[in-house]
Amino acid sequence: MENLTNINVIKDIFERHGFTFSKALGQNFIINPSICPKIAELGNAKKGFGVIEIGTGVGVLTNELAKRADKVAAVEIDSRLIPILQETLAEYDNVTVINADVMKTDLNAVIEENFKGLEVAVCANLPYYITSPIIMYLLESRLPIKSITVMVQKEAGVRLCAKPGSRECGAVTAAVHYYAEPKLLFNVSRGSFMPAPNVDSCVIRLDIRDPPAVSVTDEKFFFRVVRGAFSQRRKNLANSLSSSMSADKQTVISAIKAAGLSENIRPEQLTLQQFADVSEQLSTLI
Ligand code: SAM
Repeated sequence: MENLTNINVIKDIFERHGFTFSKALGQNFIINPSICPKIAELGNAKKGFGVIEIGTGVGVLTNELAKRADKVAAVEIDSRLIPILQETLAEYDNVTVINADVMKTDLNAVIEENFKGLEVAVCANLPYYITSPIIMYLLESRLPIKSITVMVQKEAGVRLCAKPGSRECGAVTAAVHYYAEPKLLFNVSRGSFMPAPNVDSCVIRLDIRDPPAVSVTDEKFFFRVVRGAFSQRRKNLANSLSSSMSADKQTVISAIKAAGLSENIRPEQLTLQQFADVSEQLSTLI
């Protein structure tokens, strides 16, 4: 295929297919030629691997994944891109394009159907309107995958890679650290996209942990505690948890103290292990 990062090539494809960008679907396509090979190489697109891609656009990253991995399954919501992909991916027989919303796609079934005997990785330039929900969906689906390598908005990347116990930490950060070891790989300027977004971006990789970072008796309850803790950013842990979990404040304070923490501690000061400790204590009291 001709160079899909060349603006004239893309414009010609769009004209022939009558395609116009959808802002609502987060369509900012990569036009910097150095980015996609790097995502593919750092994202485990290699022999012995099947790669799931989310959001193909015109297939610029899909091409780089298909060159390197044994198989690629790419999920794209916009049906207008399907005839374009038939053209831009014509030379590959190892790519399956699935025209669907990734949030409604059973990715365990996709893996089962397409990647028998292969290790699996996820690579994507994510649509920014739905970054955190997609990452949480991937992690909570407990897919048998090695890594998730994604381009996200720069601030989102910094927050996702922040350490629990630091100021930038939120509920999604804690969840990411529970399931994976996040790493910020490299920054990408806004000029690398067409159309250029208003923000810079970065590529992060989440290396999936097996088992998760801390051991908890009841994972659902643990995540209720984590989400509840960060539900009211200005409140301390005791106040946030008592209102979000409809629990008596003294009971929550007892659990926090039994976990060896100060009753005035703030949610962003807790490590993952301390969240696990509070969750274990609280589950015996409410
Ligand atoms: N991979 C291409 C690139 O790097 O140039 C396109 C990336 S663009 C930021 C995001 C892509 O995700 C768009 O093609 C958009 O149509 C698609 N998309 C948006 N929401 C989606 C969803 N819920 N499920 C699957 N694809 C989605």
